[in-house]
Amino acid sequence: MEREWEKYIREVDPYVPGEQPKNPNAIKLNTNENPYPPSPKALEALKKMDYTEFRRYPDPEAEALESAIARNYGLERENVFAGVGSDDVLALSFLTFFNSDKPVLFPDITYSFYSVWARLFRISYETVPLVNFEIRPEDYRRENGGIVIANPNAPTGVELPLDAVEDIIKNNQKSVVIVDEAYVDFGGVSALPLTKKYKNLLVVQTFSKSRAFAGLRIGYAMGDKDLIAAIKRVKNSFNSYPLNTPSIVLGTAIAEDREYYAGSIRKVIATRERMKKELRALGFEFGDSMTNFIFAKRPGTSAEDLMNALKKKDIYVRYFKTPLLKDYLRITIGTDQEMDAFLAAVKEYLKEQGEL
Ligand SMILES: *Cc1c(COP(=O)(O)O)cnc(C)c1O
Repeated sequence: MEREWEKYIREVDPYVPGEQPKNPNAIKLNTNENPYPPSPKALEALKKMDYTEFRRYPDPEAEALESAIARNYGLERENVFAGVGSDDVLALSFLTFFNSDKPVLFPDITYSFYSVWARLFRISYETVPLVNFEIRPEDYRRENGGIVIANPNAPTGVELPLDAVEDIIKNNQKSVVIVDEAYVDFGGVSALPLTKKYKNLLVVQTFSKSRAFAGLRIGYAMGDKDLIAAIKRVKNSFNSYPLNTPSIVLGTAIAEDREYYAGSIRKVIATRERMKKELRALGFEFGDSMTNFIFAKRPGTSAEDLMNALKKKDIYVRYFKTPLLKDYLRITIGTDQEMDAFLAAVKEYLKEQGEL
């Protein structure tokens, strides 16, 4: 028998993150984490932390962190909002800016959290089909209550050139356009300079991928001060202290260390370019990734079976069982050694199946 209160539960359809396997020796190529450690400045700051300070609430405005991020990008602090990973920042941005009866637009293949938040917050939305895995700006020239794109896009890895991004922003100045740049540091071009020209543009980035800080949960939005102030009002209507003290301290310590990260980013890009050749030679097909992952299919090979065969060898890749994505695997770029183990396992599987 249904209990009365069950009728009042908010029904949701949650986002499912990639698995975090218990085995520490697993080769983890399923959540786009960075295979290299964060800046040693994080370790220095960690050693200096006074644990007795944990009895205090953190700074509700995370001023040190937002100021360091602002300095890193040549912005003022009023142009930056930091949150608990870009997931938090994006969710708060949806809640803040997507409050119209008109539908919010985003691609049919993109970060799958967008539709989850839209449903959670009862935001009406329409998805716009990609064409050959690409966003077409002309498809975004219609009435809408906001636009969100990931650039480079996930899980395709494909980048939309900056002039096309600008076309979308310029032709939609009545609504807020969010550009989610989770992967931009791996060779993409940021729309950040356009925030000076367009007051309706919000650029969102994260320390989870290129900054090797997924475990600390730091993301941030950058844009006109009125957009940032609006998000902060919503944030302060929900949770005064989302960022904890260790995240603020360690994030502040690494925010301006571009030099260190340039080195690990260069290594990831070099491995990615090598993987493109190796995967192509094995018969895989994919768009030209500008991220730290490759989204690939192999005609004649079941992506799901391959994913499961790799998992038996403790190699984890991401698989999305949806009509548009079911033929693909999303393979994070790990170290060269990890990628060699992955390639060897793929070759072995294909030979066993008589597919190579
Ligand atoms: C990883 C990712 C995020 C979320 O990252 P956080 O860890 O929450 O900062 C947001 N958008 C895209 C496209 C991502 O791939």
